[in-house]
Amino acid sequence: MTDVAVPPPAPTTQTRARAEVAVAGVRVAPPVRRQAGAGPSDDGHVRLDGRGAALPLDPSSPFEVVDGRLLRDGDDVGLEVEAVDRPRFYDLATADGVPYEQLARLHGTDVLASTVIQTCIRYGEDDRCRFCAIESSLRAGATTRVKTPPQLAEVAEAAVRLDGVRQVVLTTGTTATPDRGARYLARCVAAIRRAVPGLPVQVQCEPPDDLAVLSELSMVGATSIGIHVESLDDEVRRRWMPGKAHVPLDDYWRAWDAAVRTFGRNQVSTYLLVGLGEDPDELVAGASELVARGVYPFVVPFRPLVGTLAADHPAPDPAVLAEVTERVAAVLRAAGMRGADQGAGCAACGACSVLSTAGG
Ligand code: SF4
Repeated sequence: MTDVAVPPPAPTTQTRARAEVAVAGVRVAPPVRRQAGAGPSDDGHVRLDGRGAALPLDPSSPFEVVDGRLLRDGDDVGLEVEAVDRPRFYDLATADGVPYEQLARLHGTDVLASTVIQTCIRYGEDDRCRFCAIESSLRAGATTRVKTPPQLAEVAEAAVRLDGVRQVVLTTGTTATPDRGARYLARCVAAIRRAVPGLPVQVQCEPPDDLAVLSELSMVGATSIGIHVESLDDEVRRRWMPGKAHVPLDDYWRAWDAAVRTFGRNQVSTYLLVGLGEDPDELVAGASELVARGVYPFVVPFRPLVGTLAADHPAPDPAVLAEVTERVAAVLRAAGMRGADQGAGCAACGACSVLSTAGG
């Protein structure tokens, strides 16, 4: 890892409050909520001071929403909260009777998100990422095992028309094929772009063995890509993501570099989770290296979700989350990389991170 001079700005009051509520969550359930699934979930989607925010729902949280204001133990913390309405496309179903809500969900304020393959080769007890609940929602009957390209095209068209959706995020469980599911994602993207030309779509997958598939994704219309490592610390990876840790970090760097060449600088991102035990300075240094290579490090707090192997693991210290986020946001600003500049994807949405509050 290269040495990068990292400015150490103190977190602002807003970033601190946003980090606290990102970890502690809120007591009420807004209309838009998802449980389980891939990535951070069991959250409620709101507008927090005008920005989309996915907040954990926790009846023991000191935060509550009263008259559109966020209160901590009854005191106004200076942030406005607006619920995101239940989208109208949730009330529709395909001709063969599958509710659209089981095929794709509204994230943040204007993101249509779908896990196109809801199973993962790494979901065995010994291999599974400890924070992941990808197959829980499948077992609960809340979603389908595989979403077909025509189904996704149909839902996307309706979500744009009825609910003003402006971007799509497609993720997948890892497949046994060498492309890790990327070619199936390409078929889904192609169908969505045929139905709604110009709609930005981000895809998310593990580093594919054959990097040529990245060009195929771009050619069919994917606008950005997330290749998510979650941690750049191999010891943390082995502990938290025993299956994924078999993929060497070198493969991630090769895939990120190839993706930046294909999709462009700041159109490639990765999750970095705060709270897995990684040293904060090393996390910021790793994020800086990613930024230098044109990859957006989407810094998010680890969430101990019911139904995952880490349900009892403590959530991160909000002060550490605020500090790390502020430092990474400063690096992003210095590099002229903003999440909002990505056409689609988690960095463009920002709801699961504190980065956009900190100006990253
Ligand atoms: S940041 Fe990503 S996972 Fe989180 S709500 Fe937005 S699109 Fe969904």
